[in-house]
Amino acid sequence: MVTKGMKSMVDSVLKDHLSRFPLLGKLVAGTRQEHQVTLPGRALNDEPRPVISIAGKNPGPVVFINAGVHGGEYPAIEAAIRIGRSLDPETLSGTVVVMPVLNLPAFWKRSIFVCPIDDLNPNRIFPGDPEGSYSEQMVYALTNEFMARADCYIDLHGGDIVEGLVPFSICRKGQSDVDQKSLELASVFGLPFVLTVDRPIQPSKGSMSFVAGAERGVPGFIAEAGGVGQLQFDAVDQLTDGIYRVLNHLNMIDSPSLAPKISTVLTNFEWMYSEKAGMFYPIVQINESLTEGQLVGHVGSLFGETIEEIHAPLSGRVLFITTSPAVIEHGLLMGIGA
Ligand SMILES: [Zn+2]
Repeated sequence: MVTKGMKSMVDSVLKDHLSRFPLLGKLVAGTRQEHQVTLPGRALNDEPRPVISIAGKNPGPVVFINAGVHGGEYPAIEAAIRIGRSLDPETLSGTVVVMPVLNLPAFWKRSIFVCPIDDLNPNRIFPGDPEGSYSEQMVYALTNEFMARADCYIDLHGGDIVEGLVPFSICRKGQSDVDQKSLELASVFGLPFVLTVDRPIQPSKGSMSFVAGAERGVPGFIAEAGGVGQLQFDAVDQLTDGIYRVLNHLNMIDSPSLAPKISTVLTNFEWMYSEKAGMFYPIVQINESLTEGQLVGHVGSLFGETIEEIHAPLSGRVLFITTSPAVIEHGLLMGIGA
């Protein structure tokens, strides 16, 4: 069902769905194009990024989808590639633009969490900085050339190479129209959990992608599935199905065969860290329910002694867990949703 707010959003963009992205030129209704895009920014003159545009025969909303903000989240990257190939411009209303891998340096080097050129986590520095380092310029270009020009933004992620994860979406918590639309779209996407957050999960210079979108009036969310450096096809399907549900909800495609899925909304997302460095031995699994104070694992020294017991700081559900046993001091261990 299209809500009143959504209807006005749709109405406002009926005219210009072919000319939103200067870097792609004017798109032609009813065509799918492959672009090699060099992002603006002095540091970014290294390698063009593949972008696929699907310009529908009929007017409608403009949706921008990217994956590969983290280069080792392969189900997300594969889902973006498949969406780029499978959407039919003959039957699409509106435009879908897909960038399968933003952080190409991390993809080629199989780096976890960061871009290897400047060791920054791109999803902690939105909206970026045109005079900053490589990652800051990359994020700035993504924000301004793509995300801010869309009517809806979907950022595909998953557990990184060293993380197992329960599929969930994240959007900004709030009462504004854009926050309500983001929650609506994230819920339509249909992963088991939707987290709403109103503060940075980690201390950082900037924000996560969807916050920069919301600040620019663009409803959007992160959708996460898969992990541990594998290409899990069930996770790919969960992400592509979610995108089809959103496009169906926006009346951009007609796909009644996809049954709606109910997501549980969680409003608290706590990340747990070790105090000490060593080997991490968890005794809980992803999707397990925890009670506050419960022992969830320990850190051992490289002599085999237990040097730290890890207890749950709150009751909730394990949404992701670090699957690599090597942990540094203050190393990330798991995320709990409540
Ligand atoms: Zn990620």
